[in-house]
Amino acid sequence: MYTKIIDISQPVGSTSACFPGDAPFQRQVTLTLQESGVVNLCSMSMSPHVGTHADAPIHIRGDMDVDSGIAAADLPLDAFLGAATVIDLAPYNEGITAEQFVEQINKLHPAGKPQRILFKTCHQIRYHMFEDSYAYLTVDLVQSMHKQGIRLVGIDTPSVDHIKSKSLEAHHALDECGMFWLENLDLTKVEAGEYILVALPLKLTEMEASPVRAVLLA
Ligand SMILES: [Zn+2]
Repeated sequence: MYTKIIDISQPVGSTSACFPGDAPFQRQVTLTLQESGVVNLCSMSMSPHVGTHADAPIHIRGDMDVDSGIAAADLPLDAFLGAATVIDLAPYNEGITAEQFVEQINKLHPAGKPQRILFKTCHQIRYHMFEDSYAYLTVDLVQSMHKQGIRLVGIDTPSVDHIKSKSLEAHHALDECGMFWLENLDLTKVEAGEYILVALPLKLTEMEASPVRAVLLA
């Protein structure tokens, strides 16, 4: 049993930071309680990469109109639910290497077999600011985690790849290894160690990513 729920999601609203060129969060109030006498009603639009989210394989391969089975709704729930190890590298804003991972995991998890890894690289997150210098995963690291049987990796930055990467090599390496990933986590209130992660993607059948409400149970 757990005794504590730690929210590791970033807030989503009209002031939330957004990857340059992505659609920010916008709300339209379509009906007010005053007008209707019954309900307030809204619609919203945003890139699913605003806030804490999971990318689906179709984010980086396939045709949005043709390919099926690789959208957000198809992400396997078991990858996003279960034992997770938080590794604390904060403050860090470069590529995370396999050596750093191995060193930390030997410290935190000498005997066990971690299944999910979350990298804390920030002590503070400015939710309204897009930071263009942030930590990301190296291909080397992805392959090392895959060898250890890790299914999911999360990071507290906007992308698993370097901001200037054109080929998104970490995204592709994760996908080729059959791994899944979470971006824009908020691990500022979390210490290194073992937790239960719950971060289920929405069942969005036509989207290349999905917002998640990510929590750790301690
Ligand atoms: Zn993304």
